[in-house]
Amino acid sequence: MVKNIFDLTGRVALVTGGNGGIGFGIARGLAGAGAAVAIAGRNENKNRAALQRLTAAGLPAIALKCDVTDPAAVAKMVDTTVDKLGGLNILVNNAGTNRRTDEPQNLTLDDWQLVVDTNLTSLHVVSAAAFPHLKSNGGKVINIGSMMSVLATGYAPAYAASKGGVVQYSKSLAVGWARHDIQVNCILPGWVRTDMTEGFLKMFPERYQVIVDRTPAGRWAEPQELAGTAIYLASRASDFVTGAAIPVDGGYLVQ
Ligand code: NDP
Repeated sequence: MVKNIFDLTGRVALVTGGNGGIGFGIARGLAGAGAAVAIAGRNENKNRAALQRLTAAGLPAIALKCDVTDPAAVAKMVDTTVDKLGGLNILVNNAGTNRRTDEPQNLTLDDWQLVVDTNLTSLHVVSAAAFPHLKSNGGKVINIGSMMSVLATGYAPAYAASKGGVVQYSKSLAVGWARHDIQVNCILPGWVRTDMTEGFLKMFPERYQVIVDRTPAGRWAEPQELAGTAIYLASRASDFVTGAAIPVDGGYLVQ
């Protein structure tokens, strides 16, 4: 009998973009709840440093080099996770990027393609590669959306389009994979201090306080604050939850 419905002992998780920011916060949370975790990113120095932090804390993990826009690299990432950790039950599609512009019409096609390939197309490529493993034993997919899955700005049109697509794609998987006992849900993070938002604050420093004032909780989040919802969505506790998009935003969306 499972004593703790959030217990992930015996489960294997793969977190794309798990070498930093929100992905690392989620990977550490899943490992702390008992999962063996594979973190994946392009930058090998970041992979090594993140792996060291996990193993130094006594958490079972491996790090894999992978660009999620490269289908061959994705196939290898999934196969290596299964080979080294003995399966794959929990997939966290977290890798993401952004390109900003002054006005929507000025975003270059290259920037559009990069953002959509990284944030949206990769979900299909990674999820399809993971499917044969997820379906065999109560799989969980957690896709990372954004406030921009719902709201929009003029300076990040590809980001908003891709993150809106993340939610719709997740619903499609949720419906299509329910008969395989795979639950697919999204987390929509509010404003979190990471490398990605450091870039944003360099462009618009005044936005830091604007966001604090606009957020009912009155602050930005730390990356580890996304872990609780991820553990819930990765565990048996959420077995009847699928196709949902859960904001973890300090109330940003409700006012
Ligand atoms: P970071 O820039 O800190 O992390 C992004 C991660 O994605 C890194 O681990 C990076 O690793 C990885 N990554 C980027 N491109 C690729 C790629 N092509 N292939 C593999 N890995 C890739 O950002 P955050 O932690 O802030 O963002 C994580 C997710 O959360 C993103 O999807 C983002 O859109 C979303 N989000 C963030 C919010 C925030 O306020 N910070 C708010 C809402 C959503 P590497 O460079 O080694 O490849």
